[in-house]
Amino acid sequence: MEQASVKETKFFRSRKIFDNVTLISCIGGAQCYLIEGKERALLIDGLTGVGSLRAYVRELTDLPVLFVVTHGHLDHAGAAYEYGECFIHPADIELMYSKQHSDRKERLGFTASEPQNKATLEDVVPECPVKTYPVYGGDIFDLGDFCLEVIEVPGHTRGTIVLLDRVHRVVYSGDTCNANTLLGFPGSASVEEYLEALCHFQSYETEFEEMWGGHGGRAAQGRKTADSEYAEPGAGGVGG
Ligand SMILES: [Zn+2]
Repeated sequence: MEQASVKETKFFRSRKIFDNVTLISCIGGAQCYLIEGKERALLIDGLTGVGSLRAYVRELTDLPVLFVVTHGHLDHAGAAYEYGECFIHPADIELMYSKQHSDRKERLGFTASEPQNKATLEDVVPECPVKTYPVYGGDIFDLGDFCLEVIEVPGHTRGTIVLLDRVHRVVYSGDTCNANTLLGFPGSASVEEYLEALCHFQSYETEFEEMWGGHGGRAAQGRKTADSEYAEPGAGGVGG
């Protein structure tokens, strides 16, 4: 059940979308999810690294936090430089380390769509070597009382994954199926590979009723709906 409480700081804004799930968004409009189980929590995606997401998450939960990225883009992997480790599909590790997706100026540039923000280069967590743990389709994150399962959906990037919670019937999709999913970037799969991956993802469609992505809110089964109660500048389904 969705709740209205909002926690806002200079760099982040969050609200509960389910009793055990917090949606966190950053300047520029990317969003990530903190999923809390009985024994541990899973942070799905890590925004840009502008401001300390790790400190923000620590205010939200006392549980040990595992960190996984749906793909290696700069607006999803920023917290890797704070945690010093992350779960990631191996096909996206090189992409995550590329200058375009790790450089502080590039990550600060993601905030430019909100010129009223006052972020500076000093606010950006410096890039550093990250211990990467590989994840593949079928892998499970066990949070104690329920699990999230990895599904590979290469397209937007070759290493894109989504995470399926069969108990609560929700999937967290990163940029896999945004309103305007972007292909043709360095690191993207071909259109043919993306189509094949979407058909594979579709085979899970009876297992979930809602899909929460990396930009622009929620898409329910059978109908895409902007999450209008939480509309934000720059959050209109941009597929970065
Ligand atoms: Zn992306």
